[in-house]
Amino acid sequence: MKRIALLGATGSIGRQALEVIEGHPGLELVAAASGSRPIDGLAPLTQVGGDLVELLERAEPDVVLNAVVGFAGLPATLWALEHGVDLALANKESLVAAGELALAAQRRGGGLLLPVDSEHSAAFQCLEGRARETVDSLVLTASGGPFRGRTRDELHDVTPEDALAHPTWNMGPKITVDSATLANKGLELIEAHFLFGLPYERIEVAVHPTSVVHALLRFRDGAVLAHLGYPDMRVPISFALTYPERAATPIPALDLASGLTLEFHAPDADTFPLLAFARDAGERGGTYPCAYNAANEVAVAAFLDGRLPFLGISEVVEETLAAVDGAHARDLDGLVEADAAARALAERSLLPA
Ligand code: MG
Repeated sequence: MKRIALLGATGSIGRQALEVIEGHPGLELVAAASGSRPIDGLAPLTQVGGDLVELLERAEPDVVLNAVVGFAGLPATLWALEHGVDLALANKESLVAAGELALAAQRRGGGLLLPVDSEHSAAFQCLEGRARETVDSLVLTASGGPFRGRTRDELHDVTPEDALAHPTWNMGPKITVDSATLANKGLELIEAHFLFGLPYERIEVAVHPTSVVHALLRFRDGAVLAHLGYPDMRVPISFALTYPERAATPIPALDLASGLTLEFHAPDADTFPLLAFARDAGERGGTYPCAYNAANEVAVAAFLDGRLPFLGISEVVEETLAAVDGAHARDLDGLVEADAAARALAERSLLPA
């Protein structure tokens, strides 16, 4: 029996994780946490808001599924890695903001770090058991979001409702807006760098509108491995929670007879600058990725509130990255400081000049 602690139980990942746990007799939910919605009776231990590390210490899980949204998911990630508790990671901000601290904690703790993000789960599966020196590059796919094919001029007046209409994935509001700006792929690029130890120049992004191929691995002999499947988060959730068993799921088989379109394009860097800003923040290192994430969280919240136009999101991130010092953080406190400083700068750039 694997004892699971589920953090972020009421979000999109959390609800699908409950379904996976329910359907598998070897998985037992021992603790659940939500940010604000009531979850009484969902698990033997439940918590709404508050300190997630305290809950984890009481629950003593075998696996933590961290599906908290945003920087708030960081302490739970570091706790699991430090304590050698297997971590199924759906909180991408953990590795973006705290990649170096997280990897150091994992080396000390010795537990597994299993990505739940669909692209990273796919890459993990393509890479499993292969020598790293045989890998030329990783290709992350992006659906392109609801605004794929549009020019900058066509995005001046788009509303939160327009941005929330994702063509292939059904997800929470923060990540859906991030998919529309390509910031989500930017965060995933940084996440992949830390997860797989690949330099940024060996991680590519390709736009793939049908979201059937989740990642590709190019090897030095010219072979390319791809991971295919319908866009359904229950697959990577189940893979991570039942690893290495790869338990059965109720997902329909990929239908090859009804016409499957595998189309790929280069991303439009002019219309969606947040992808290049992420690459740049990642290459600069230090707390630049943390600042990128913080500024983006502030800007997306303002956009969803109607306080910032869609094109303003990338402007706020660009201004914030230009203003922070990006210095390395030695510990979580240092990161919390860098995060807060970037948020304050981002809030300031929201104000009319
Ligand atoms: Mg993803």
